[in-house]
Amino acid sequence: MSTCKIAVIDGDGIGPEVCQSAVRVLREAVGSCKLDFELLPGGAGHYRKTGKVLPEETFTACAGSHAILHGAAGLPDVRYPDGTEAGNDLHLDLRFRLDLYANVRPIKLLPNVRSPLNGVTAGSIDYVIVRENTEGLYASRGGGIRLRGEVATDTLVITRKGTERVARFAFNLSRQRNGAPKDGKRRLTVCDKANILRSYSFFRSVCEEVWKENFQDIEIDYAYVDAITVHLIKNPQYYDVIVAENMFGDIISDLGAGTIGGLGIAPSSEIGDDHGLFQGSHGSAPDIAGLGIASPLATILSAKMMLEWLADRHGDGHLSDAANRIETAVNSVLQDRVLPRDLGGTSTCEEITVAVIRALNMPRATAA
Ligand code: NAD
Repeated sequence: MSTCKIAVIDGDGIGPEVCQSAVRVLREAVGSCKLDFELLPGGAGHYRKTGKVLPEETFTACAGSHAILHGAAGLPDVRYPDGTEAGNDLHLDLRFRLDLYANVRPIKLLPNVRSPLNGVTAGSIDYVIVRENTEGLYASRGGGIRLRGEVATDTLVITRKGTERVARFAFNLSRQRNGAPKDGKRRLTVCDKANILRSYSFFRSVCEEVWKENFQDIEIDYAYVDAITVHLIKNPQYYDVIVAENMFGDIISDLGAGTIGGLGIAPSSEIGDDHGLFQGSHGSAPDIAGLGIASPLATILSAKMMLEWLADRHGDGHLSDAANRIETAVNSVLQDRVLPRDLGGTSTCEEITVAVIRALNMPRATAA
């Protein structure tokens, strides 16, 4: 493909520093003539100034781009009168309006990263959480009720269409992988609370129908969300792909990130039929914003996922080569122990960015 238009929304807190780091790495890996970045406003800070979290011009530019790269959005003190945060509407609105229904969160322990779990080594944790991204409990965002200061409700929404498409996505993803580290089996685990709520037993039964229809080459497996929090700590090697309702997927993916070094190294992509948004799994980390110590690795690895997705869609070998080079460069930086603080090192966001760029330019055999 000739040139890709990439909409870039830095957002709030550490968003700008990690996002600009990823843009620099992308420029180096792909060559600037192939990627055309457009920096766009949005987020909690923008809401504070203008009353708009996602300005219409930003939405239009995102909708017209080949992909969206995002830092993070949200500031805990920027809230609506109902008490919820304003900034999160940036990505929530993009998810709903661009129909980004599959939130893909790889949980992979990289070489030279120490897990807080005992006895796990690189490669022994390697699974992907596919979080349904447009319905579930978050579908009622802005539509819940707070009544007389006494009662509050939000509604959990599960549809056949929403569940079928995310289940198909997750089964197809499993087909492209090599199975669970423990036994090499391709396995989809449906994570729910089907023992308690009808909505979740419906989610489970629709996933099972999709499996019967077309995916019986993959093992189907079930886990209640409370139990899976223990399994992901005690037996993470068992998992290949997990599909979960929106809020459950949100929560268990942070738990998974904790087992592979933390939120600073956990990437994500949000995929629909026509659009893709890429951002680290973390938030705006206001506690470390402006200190220069945020890890850009989650956003850089999300940018790598963006290149893979674009390469796939447009059949562009140059982009998939650039994605592979970014992965090799990140591994090489970790091997050289250029580590951010959250991984036990002392390197700044800038130092890590420079190290990744340097590794990109090393001869391939040295960087590998
Ligand atoms: P958070 O992910 O911002 O931070 C949680 C912890 O992880 C903090 O200690 C933080 O310092 C650390 N951390 C996060 N990213 C890091 C990085 N790249 N490098 C090093 N350390 C990192 O979660 P939170 O504190 O619950 O939320 C802060 C704000 O972000 C809130 O306003 C929240 O609504 C928003 N938020 C936004 C997104 C998003 O943009 N997609 C996601 C989650 C939370």
